[in-house]
Amino acid sequence: MKIWIDGKLLPEEEAKIGVLDHGLLYGDGCFEGIRVYNGRIFKLQSHLERMWQSAERIRLDLPFTHEVIADAVRETVEVNGVTNGYLRLVFTRGVGTLGLHPFLCPKPSVFVIADTIKLYPPELYEEGMKIIVADRPRIPRECLDPQIKSLNYLNNILAKIEAIDAGVLEALMLNIDGWVSECTGDNIFVVKDGRLSTPPVDAGILDGITRRFVMNELCPALGLPIEERMMRLEEVLDADEVFLTGTAAEVIGVSRVDDHVIGGGGVGSITTRLVEEFRARTSENAPEN
Ligand code: PMP
Repeated sequence: MKIWIDGKLLPEEEAKIGVLDHGLLYGDGCFEGIRVYNGRIFKLQSHLERMWQSAERIRLDLPFTHEVIADAVRETVEVNGVTNGYLRLVFTRGVGTLGLHPFLCPKPSVFVIADTIKLYPPELYEEGMKIIVADRPRIPRECLDPQIKSLNYLNNILAKIEAIDAGVLEALMLNIDGWVSECTGDNIFVVKDGRLSTPPVDAGILDGITRRFVMNELCPALGLPIEERMMRLEEVLDADEVFLTGTAAEVIGVSRVDDHVIGGGGVGSITTRLVEEFRARTSENAPEN
């Protein structure tokens, strides 16, 4: 595998980040996970915009333009012969001193990895996925805005460990005021009486690119009404259908939350229509914008 790192394509063994890089020492940096479908980079522009937004919010100035990074992403996909896979784009603060001071790191690093992807097991897409509600709340926006897709994912990882300990793969996180926010690596939607809802960015979530694709493109195409609104856990438990969205997960139905069976306990009909529409749109000319 070849990795694009700071302007060069290097063999995997030679692509290195220093031990004094603040991305490693402090999680000071940001990243994007991006899918490749049929050689097309799904929603590349949206991912680049979000990446730059994350970088600006942590005051990380890059020595590369949008175009250079877009070309780097395409080059990495091509040279590794990835037609269907997953990309990881990472900006780190760069090498500095042992103190926190970010501006003593003179040169940020950028790297791009293009690889295959391990999805949730296929049977979960058929039967629905079981999730739990994490005890640990999502970190408040005032402390670390989840809109910054930073290299510090420990809030999510600790909730993910709760899920793994409970024998499932995903955990729903509430915010500190008890409102539904998002899962550790996926956004959440509920369906009640044919109407879809999802928590707003104000609930303290990452504004997922798959979430926006579902809200702004798939729902209108299928004539499904969708709104963003604050919701309590009870609304998730009482929903007819619950599904999650994410770059890796795509669209996946939820059959149980803790001990509560959702709807009929399988994947609901609206979720199924969305999964099919998602697959149809990514199987041929996956939109790059
Ligand atoms: N929330 C969190 C915390 C995530 O890490 C992700 C995945 N990156 C998502 C939601 C889903 O976002 P997207 O659709 O952009 O992958």
